[in-house]
Formats: sequence, structure tokens, C-alpha cells
Amino acid sequence: MVMSTSAGARRLPRLVVAAPASGHGKTTIACGLMAAMRRRGLAVAPAKVGPDYIDPGYHWLAAGRVGRNLDPVLVGEDRIVPLLLHGAATPQPADVSVIEGVMGLFDGRLASDGFGSSAHVATLTASPVLLVVDVRHASRTFGAVVHGLATYDPGVRVGGVLLNRVGSVRHAQEVRRAVEGVGLPVLGVLPRDEAISAPSRHLGLVPAAERAESAAVLDALADRIAADVDLDAVLALARTAPDLMGEPWDAAREMSHAREAGIERAGSGDAGSSRPVIAMAGGRAFTFRYAETEELLRAGGCEVVTFDPLTDAALPPGTAGLYVGGGFPQVHAADLTANAPLREHIRDAVASGLPTVAECAGLLYLCDSVDGAPMLGALPLTAAMTSKLTLGYRQAIAPADTLLARAGERLVGHEFHRTTTAPLVRPEDNSPTHEDADVPDASDVSGVADVPGVASAWLLDGRAEGASVDPAGLGHPTVHASYLHTHWAGRPQLASRFVDAVRDYAGSGRAVPDAPRGVPSTSARPVPDQLPTTSAAAAADASARGVGEVILVGGGPGDPGLLTVAGLEAIRAADAVVYDRLAPLASLAEAPAGAELIEVGKIPRGAFTSQERIHEILIEQALAGRRVVRLKGGDPFVFGRGGEEWQACAAAGVPVRVIPGVTSCVAVPELAGVPVTHRHLTQGFTVVSGHVPPGDPRSSLDWDALARTHTTLVILMGVKNLPKITARLVGAGLDPASPAVVLEDGCSTAARVVRGSAADIAALAADAGVRPPAITVIGQVAGLDLDVDG
Ligand code: SAH
Repeated sequence: MVMSTSAGARRLPRLVVAAPASGHGKTTIACGLMAAMRRRGLAVAPAKVGPDYIDPGYHWLAAGRVGRNLDPVLVGEDRIVPLLLHGAATPQPADVSVIEGVMGLFDGRLASDGFGSSAHVATLTASPVLLVVDVRHASRTFGAVVHGLATYDPGVRVGGVLLNRVGSVRHAQEVRRAVEGVGLPVLGVLPRDEAISAPSRHLGLVPAAERAESAAVLDALADRIAADVDLDAVLALARTAPDLMGEPWDAAREMSHAREAGIERAGSGDAGSSRPVIAMAGGRAFTFRYAETEELLRAGGCEVVTFDPLTDAALPPGTAGLYVGGGFPQVHAADLTANAPLREHIRDAVASGLPTVAECAGLLYLCDSVDGAPMLGALPLTAAMTSKLTLGYRQAIAPADTLLARAGERLVGHEFHRTTTAPLVRPEDNSPTHEDADVPDASDVSGVADVPGVASAWLLDGRAEGASVDPAGLGHPTVHASYLHTHWAGRPQLASRFVDAVRDYAGSGRAVPDAPRGVPSTSARPVPDQLPTTSAAAAADASARGVGEVILVGGGPGDPGLLTVAGLEAIRAADAVVYDRLAPLASLAEAPAGAELIEVGKIPRGAFTSQERIHEILIEQALAGRRVVRLKGGDPFVFGRGGEEWQACAAAGVPVRVIPGVTSCVAVPELAGVPVTHRHLTQGFTVVSGHVPPGDPRSSLDWDALARTHTTLVILMGVKNLPKITARLVGAGLDPASPAVVLEDGCSTAARVVRGSAADIAALAADAGVRPPAITVIGQVAGLDLDVDG
């Protein structure tokens, strides 16, 4: 818990997870530790040493809160403790912080004596170090390795070792003896298990938002860590960290300092609407951005609204600024291209002078094309993949005044890409093309030199890079596009200047035209406000009291694509998402970066949360003023306890509303090729729950009558009781030859189908080892074979 002790001293148990080199399993183990601690009910604040965007995505999934980057190169040494404390205080006080290191313990910026290394951050934050060592290729020698790491720098305190990927019990014993022999405790021993390591892609790890199965992987990891690591000892090590001196980083204070620094144009603060909207690209294609960017823009008085360039048809209404960060757009290029209405809308907006910041993938999106796939066409550049990875810190100098910087201003940023850009080649010219781009020493990797109307955004280590453009002819550039990633916490003036430009634009009357007529815009619909609440007066009254709201959202089942547009918008606007295992976990990736994710599993294994506790969590969160999405699998009111949750919230004076979902009763059979109605076979369907068997005094169903309905029978929650259910139905006159089908894990890639008849389906399902969640369908429609896959 971050608690102020004596004046300015703050208690925060914490540790740095480090390794002798990259590839020892730091990310996997750091995430596993976070998930395992979280299962114990601890609030875990994740952090990552260095500029990386991908690991914090995993941290966010594992810990349920935003991973912060602690990079002294990008933000300066002085901001490391404040940013750590900020992450540990946001959105709520954390019990412990797990800081994942970068590369080998002492590896930092080149030629800087390890500036920015894990050891540097451990020293700045006085954090004990937990070493993760992949012991595959040696045994006793690791005694010497960890001894060296523990004694190399007296300012770094190594407090424990986790042995990773051990081959056998004897191998583990041998390494353990050697490590303990040099005085370091072994706090865990993990066997080789390829299933739980995060797979890498061309730039490292695949971003969490792109891996729907991440949640399942994390779950397995948490099991592993709980079994193989002495978590009590790890927490005890974290608690040896001394109190930290200093104040948490504060976006509002940073923004006001940036203004006071006198760098800004005076008097621009009041122009335009009071909270102009900055559209921030998100979704699966644009996952790379530091949380502090958004926090600074909000603190600067802007509304930041995330939109998804893959699926949204228009920019959010009232957009007066555009921020497109990094990600892997080349992977999603075809889908970005396919969203032509949005491309056109953004291109027009950028041409009208919309202040636009684009970093790396954002730069590519603004280009004319990526590998031939049409992009926005807002810059006269094309982009292409190359075989060369461009990676490293860069000293950047602004060559002239740009949207973000003033001529001569310097900062350090980070470059990380495999693509290159080149001037757009019209059929008649002979300008250089991408065929030349792989030349290793191509000095202008961004290819802006000599493009009319395009100035470079930065000089990076002396090389002109990026694009600074004034497309509307306003006399000052409104587009800043560059490969360089900048951490705005390190240079809040960039945020401040962007905010000023956004305000000017909002006040100029040039505002972004709305979506082209006839094009449906998902973001343009203020769905949450239009839906019924318990009572409009009650909601208004609650909001006046600072109370948030609870939205019961149906999602899935199984497939995140089955969420409604209204549900998606509610998740994107949520401050907290309370979910359980039947909810489509991949939908969580849609929540804003700062949203808290609270798992309330009701399934043994993992968190078990009583229904009463779920009510309490929903109410507590809403009373704290938050917009709470309760994400359910299927429809909230179909065999879910959404009705009770509604009543509990309403009784507590919390506004509550429901966004229906696609219920599994219909979706699961449908996607398995079983229509629940069919004109010639059934004129109705009856959905029942089998959670209590026929004959049980708690059952309120007339099973005998069900046998005679001649409707399709859809049985939920009936795996265990299926033998009793089918026996009773057949006994009461249901034709034993009626086709029947059991559908396990429907709508997902793990879906399984067992076919039979009313007489034998229970035995067949048992033989097949069917486990919940599963649905049984009995009736003529179950005998149809629509061959959905064929
Ligand atoms: N409210 C949910 C149902 C919750 S009750 C809805 O409308 O779908 C839980 C039951 O739903 C499970 O026991 C199972 O019978 C069914 N179910 C939910 N998701 C499922 C899935 N992906 N595949 C098969 N059955 C599912």
C-alpha cells in the first residue's frame, strides 16, 4: 500500500525482476508474479524499465492496471520515483509494485555506463532485485553468474533468485546448491514449459491486445507461479524496500509548469470550446502509447476519446486534434484499407488543418500506402517493410518550429521499426523507391528529403527524419509525423503545445466536418446517454452526488466479435470493468488504458467471488464516481444474475442500466449449424436451465410437460445433470430417437460438438468428457447438418 509515513516518505513494497540477459523469461515470470499476487487479492502496480510498449500490455492484463514505463533516458532520473509512485497510486493505492527490467541487469543506453539499465532504475528507486535465470545450458556455473551480478555494483541489492526452465530435479538441486552457496536464496524453481512463454513476433512480443488467448496463458502462468514460487518470500523481499521520498508525478502540475516555463504562446488557453476532443487511435492496430500522454492531454483540459481505425466509420464528434501512436499497422493494413469511409474522413480532417501527431505506426497510417495497401494519403510518402530493424535511442533536435517543438529544441526519443518510407512515386517520375530502401546505410530512412511541402520533423542524430506539414496553408505546421517515440512525461511541453493547437483549431471554426452523410458512425452515437436508466431523474441526482453508474453489458459468448456496438462503446468509456470467465476476455482489451479490470470468477480455480461480494464491488466502484461495466457472457438477464445485480445497485441508489448481449442459447447452436427454429421442423424453442435436476425439490420446471412441447429444447447449465434430464424426458414421452446435440465452448476456437439422440446423448457426452460451458439442443433441428464449415 502506498502510505505516507513521516513527512513525504511513502511505503511501497516493490521489486525489480531482472536477468543476466534478454530471453531468460523476465516478462513471463513478471506477469506470472503479478497475476499470482492479484489472485491473492493484492493490488499490483506494474512497471517496466525502458521504452518498450509491448510488455506493459501484458502487465496490464496480468495486473488489471496500467503498466508504467520507467525510463531515465526518456524522462530523466528525477521523474523515475514520481512516475513509480504515480503508477502505484492510480487508479487506487497499490499493495506492491512489480518492476520488470530490460535486457541484462546492467545493460543500458550504449556508451553511457549503463544509464537506463534495470540496475540504474533499481538504484534510483531503492528496489531489491529478484533475478530470473534460465538455467538450461549449465548448472553450477550459475552460482558464479548470480554472484557476479549480486556483487558487481554495490548500489544494487539482489535479494533472491528464480531458476527458470530447469530440466530435472537433480539439475535443479545442483543449481540451487551453487546459488545458495554464494549466499543468495532460491525463491522458486520453474520447469520447462513452452506453453506458457509469450510468443515473439518480428519486433519482439506480440502485443497483448492482439492475442485473444493471452488471458488463458496468464491464468496458466499464475497457476505455475503459485505452485513453483514461494510467493510469501517474494513478497517479504518486496517489503524490505525502504520508504520512498517524494511526491507522485502529477499530470496537472506538469502541465501548469510547462505553461509557466513561458515557452507557450500567451493567451491561447481560452480559445474554443471548454474541453476540445482529441481523437486517439486505439484498437488492435494501435496499441503503443504511454499512459501519461493521455493523462497530460486530459490535465491540459482536453477530452481524449479513443477510436478504432479498424472499425469506426468516422472520427468522434467534435474532434479537434488527432493522436495516432504506434502499433503494428502493417499487420492490419488490409483491414485499415478496407475502412475507406474513415480514411476519407481523416484525410479531409488533416487537410483542413486538424492538429495531428503521428508516431511510428501513426506515420505509416498517414502515408499514401504501406506495402501497396492504401492508407490515409495525408502525406506524400509510401511505406514498406524491410529486412532491417531500426532500433535505439536517438538524440532529436527540432530543425524548425513544428506542431510539437520549437526550433533547436532537443530531446531523447526511441526508434523501433522495420519499415521505411520513401517519397510517393508518380508513374512518370524516377525518384527513389523502396527497392533502394534496404540499402543498410540509407541515410534518410524516412525519405522526406526533397519532398515539396514536407519539412522534416526531427534531426535524429543529425539525420532528417519524419514529416512536419502545413496542409491547410495556415503558415504553421499542423501535422507532426515521425518514427520517433517520445515519452511526454519527460517533455510535457510537447503535450502543452499540442493542447494549444487543438484549442486554436476548436475555436477557429474550421472544425472537423462530421462523418460523410449516410455513413453510420459508431463513435458518433452517444449511446450511453440515450439508453434507459432506472429513471432519468435518479441518474441526474446520482451524478450530482458524484455517483458513477453501473452498466450490465452482454458480451460474447466465446467470441468477442459478438459484442454489440453499444456494449463496445460502454467498455471503451469504462473506468472499471468487472468480468468473469464466461465473458469474452479479448473484449477487455477495448477498455481504456487506465481502466481497472476486476475479475469476479465464480468458477473454482482462480478467483471465487460470491454474488453478494459482486454486488458490493459494483456499488463501491460506482459510489467512487466511476463508470462501471459489468461484462457478462451472453445476455445479462438470461440465466445470469444480472437481474439481482440491477436490484442491488438500484437499492443502493446507484444508476444502473443494461445493454443486452447475444445469448448463448441462440448463438452457440447457430454457429454450430443448428437453427433453433426452422419453418418445417419447429415453431418454437424452449430454453431451460439444467442446474438442478428433475425431481430435485428446488426445481420449478415441469419436465414432463417439457417432453410434450414439440419445441426445440435448449438446455443450459446441464452438463452434470444431463443423464437425469434426458431419462426423465424420454420417460415422459419424448421420442428417444429425437436428434440431440451437445455443444461445448461454443463460438470459440475450442468449440466441440457431440451428436446423438435423446436416448444416448448423455452417455456420448460423458464419454467425450464434455465440460461446462456447454449447451444441449434436443429436437429435429439438431439432426440438420448445415455444414457451417463447408
Ligand atoms: N447469460 C448467459 C448464460 C449464463 S448461464 C447467456 O445468455 O448466454 C451459463 C451457461 O450458459 C453455461 O452453463 C452454458 O450452458 C451456457 N454457455 C455460455 N457460454 C457458452 C459457450 N460459449 N458455449 C456453450 N455454452 C455456453
